Amino acid sequence: MIILDGKKARDSLKANLMDKIANCIDRPKLVIIQCGDKEESNKYIQQKKKFGAEIGVEVEHIHFLRSVSEKEVIDSIKKANSDDKIHGIIVQLPLPPNLDKDEIIESIHPEKDADGLTSANIKLMWQGNEEAMIPATAQGVAFLLDFYGFSPEGKNVVIIGRSELVGKPIAAVLLSRNATVTICHSKTQDLVGTCRKADILISAAGVPGLVDESYSHANQVIVDVGINIARGKKLEEEIFGKHLVGDVNWESVRNVAKAVSPVPGGVGPLTVAFLFGNVLKMCEAAARRSSLRA
Ligand code: NAD
Repeated sequence: MIILDGKKARDSLKANLMDKIANCIDRPKLVIIQCGDKEESNKYIQQKKKFGAEIGVEVEHIHFLRSVSEKEVIDSIKKANSDDKIHGIIVQLPLPPNLDKDEIIESIHPEKDADGLTSANIKLMWQGNEEAMIPATAQGVAFLLDFYGFSPEGKNVVIIGRSELVGKPIAAVLLSRNATVTICHSKTQDLVGTCRKADILISAAGVPGLVDESYSHANQVIVDVGINIARGKKLEEEIFGKHLVGDVNWESVRNVAKAVSPVPGGVGPLTVAFLFGNVLKMCEAAARRSSLRA
């Protein structure tokens, strides 16, 4: 079985990003807005700051208390929208329940929407428009497949999960790459039978061990997007440690499928890299716009 090593794929991308950043007129800058103190979010933000520092992108972390008002968050986004030195903005999700996620996300200017979650960007993404800012995980999945020579073109791709941030963008990206895409979800009947027909199976359900050998066959490539804490482990002790697991029951599929991505070390490292790829893309676009105005 082939292991789809996301760290190896990420390193090749990282070198390419660093080359491009070295040739940028402006130093790319990302603003991360956090509301509250979720341990999981803290760890994701740490990873983003670390990667940004490694590749030469400035990262500003605006950290509000959980009790912050929607207006305060939107005001900080508007300020970042109008600052020419800032090229990308993300709001770390999930937000505390008292805040309206959609209102907050929509206040990000689409030209600075590094997560690709504004309605303007979602529309461009489904149109297959090259200007679209595509959510990083979806780009990571496509890159990992390409890196190992598994082109999605003409293939039956089955995705488990239909979220706005993960499942749907993966579907949009692979559809634009000429795959035949089926999206499964918690109400899908015969999930096992549908998945077993897939040439490429992508699991983004967030259910540890969901995909076992009954979902697979000898010519199937499996990309495991899930990041879950192994049962019985405490989140604060185990997140990003050795007890992270994906949606795939590795022991069960390893002797059946042709290729599988591991967790950790699969799609996760690529997600961080493609977030910065988006920031770079927005920095380059801003430079083009300002040279047109000059
Ligand atoms: P979500 O909870 O918003 O969506 C989960 C989706 O899976 C839903 O559409 C639901 O219908 C479907 N689902 C859940 N249980 C199912 C079942 N038993 N059978 C069929 N479908 C089922 O979650 P999300 O934000 O889309 O994230 C999904 C997973 O991906 C999580 O584990 C998350 O941590 C992980 N994730 C990984 C990365 C990465 O970089 N690897 C990035 C983002 C999210």
